[in-house]
Amino acid sequence: NAPHTHSSLAIDWSTQGIVDRRNRFYSASQRKFVPYKDPLIIKRGRGQYVWDEQDRKYIDLLGMNLCISVGHAHPRVVKAASEQVAELTHCTTMFYHPVPAQYAEELAGTMPAGHEWVVHFTNSGAEAIDLALLMARSHTGNIDMLALASSYHGATFGAQSVTGIAGFRHSVPQLGGVTFVPEPNQYRGIHGEGVEPYLKEIDRAIATSTSGRLAGMIVEPVQGYGGIVPIPEGYIAGAFERVRAAGGLCIIDEVQSGVGRTGEAFWSFESHGVVPDIVVVAKGVGNGIPLGAVIATREVAETMADKFLFHTYGANPVACAAGRAVLKVMREERLQENARTVGGALRTRLEDLKERYPIIGDVRGRGLMLAIELVRNRATKEPAPEETLAVFEETRRNGLVASRSGPYRNVIRMCPPLCLAMADVDDVLDRFERSFAAIAR
Ligand code: PMP
Repeated sequence: NAPHTHSSLAIDWSTQGIVDRRNRFYSASQRKFVPYKDPLIIKRGRGQYVWDEQDRKYIDLLGMNLCISVGHAHPRVVKAASEQVAELTHCTTMFYHPVPAQYAEELAGTMPAGHEWVVHFTNSGAEAIDLALLMARSHTGNIDMLALASSYHGATFGAQSVTGIAGFRHSVPQLGGVTFVPEPNQYRGIHGEGVEPYLKEIDRAIATSTSGRLAGMIVEPVQGYGGIVPIPEGYIAGAFERVRAAGGLCIIDEVQSGVGRTGEAFWSFESHGVVPDIVVVAKGVGNGIPLGAVIATREVAETMADKFLFHTYGANPVACAAGRAVLKVMREERLQENARTVGGALRTRLEDLKERYPIIGDVRGRGLMLAIELVRNRATKEPAPEETLAVFEETRRNGLVASRSGPYRNVIRMCPPLCLAMADVDDVLDRFERSFAAIAR
């Protein structure tokens, strides 16, 4: 387990060297958002674990921002990607290559039967979100879009415009025609528990804030940066019915919740009994290799057939080779089932922890997309952001990598690689227990 370097190019691994270079050469926004007080330098990863430059081992409870689905450095993904790098690193879509073509077929095959699905490859989530918005507007000829108030869909111009959390939007004019409706957050949503009052908000928004004709609505089935907010059963189906009645398309953002993460289904929308028109995927599909896609019905995608829509690195064979290996490993290692059982056990243990620490106001999530929300007072649900930061710093000392999220920064997200083992659950809980106990003292 000794630290090692693969590259033949000399590199300075000193903390000071890395910090100084980042501070001097990264843009302010790229260097600013770091979770911990002291820099955490990650040197390597394997499965559900990562090691820092001092060779300290951590459980990666964040799956490197949910990008790691089948596990860090999974040998099958490494082999597929590295063989493809060596053979042909890029093939522009002007030419033909079997790997992306076959991967497109396999990806389309993960979608509900009875529809013809086509794939448009991108390199990231936000790029795919932009494309989904463009598709919805092109196909319907309408402009108005609905999105949820505590949503996050990415940092590009279009994706920011449908991102509801103010902290992720820049104070410049965004794409017009977007109306935000309250998210049906069952813990702290404006209408409390239930679905109907939130669906009424959609009726009201369509009637009062739009032209009455929609381009579409975009929903994350489990909101990620919103603080791991699972959308309750009945809401997406009810919302989509209303959106379709207003002429709009139904867009699902599976960037965080897809690829078996929720344990219930490969794509989490499948648990809601809906068939979207457009699905946006990224993160877990590439297991850390930049890869995103829009998967849409042929009918929707074909509307733009006569338009130029070219992403230079779209359908990159290395990324697609990795994507193919991810699909294969998911199946063969039964990682969706693992997410369900191990996630279920982790959740049960977190509920126990909640019994002992009143600061834990809520435990929620699906599969291996879980979170705890910290509050100063369970009755008022007053958020506890400073306390969350303190617990969070402690979890790092105890060998966990996680992240804080939610509009109040009082949610600790747990979204590890889907290969997290049952044996890790005790470890994770011991480490949380020690972290909470240290803060309680
Ligand atoms: N949608 C969701 C739900 C996301 O969480 C993210 C990224 N965190 C995006 C879209 C954008 O993806 P990317 O950062 O790859 O552009």
